Amino acid sequence: MARPKPPLTGACLCGAVQVTVTAPPLLTLACHCGGCKKLTASAFSLTTMVPKDGFACTGDVIKGGLQQGGRHHYFCKSCLNFVFSEIEEAEFRVNLRTSVLDDAALFPPFVEVMVDQKLPWANVQAQHSFGALPDSLEVLQSLMDAYSKQ
Ligand SMILES: [Zn+2]
Ligand SMILES: [Zn+2]
Repeated sequence: MARPKPPLTGACLCGAVQVTVTAPPLLTLACHCGGCKKLTASAFSLTTMVPKDGFACTGDVIKGGLQQGGRHHYFCKSCLNFVFSEIEEAEFRVNLRTSVLDDAALFPPFVEVMVDQKLPWANVQAQHSFGALPDSLEVLQSLMDAYSKQ
């Protein structure tokens, strides 16, 4: 299952927010944490990490979520679709919600995290699995390296 080459395009539910990714995604993941379940109103969140300088978004977005902890979650102002997140301690990346991408089917989660909080029936076919989060930036980088070689 080959990944499509950038640019990748995507949109929110109503189409008012359009995203373009012009750099290869860094990593894809599913997060089973309690916050992601609430934010996405689903069993887990899906993220495609992209370099911030390879990400563009048009249309009006508003911040949602708890707006704390240096995490900024952006939603379409019209349809309130969850589009992407920015994390202050990872300022060079954007965590795009994979479901926004037109080719979401070609970006399955490579890693699943926070499995300790997983709903018992929510099974993800990821190649790497973590009970919590990868415990160092080195581990995260090695996951990105492995993903880029796929
Ligand atoms: Zn929308
Ligand atoms: Zn999460």
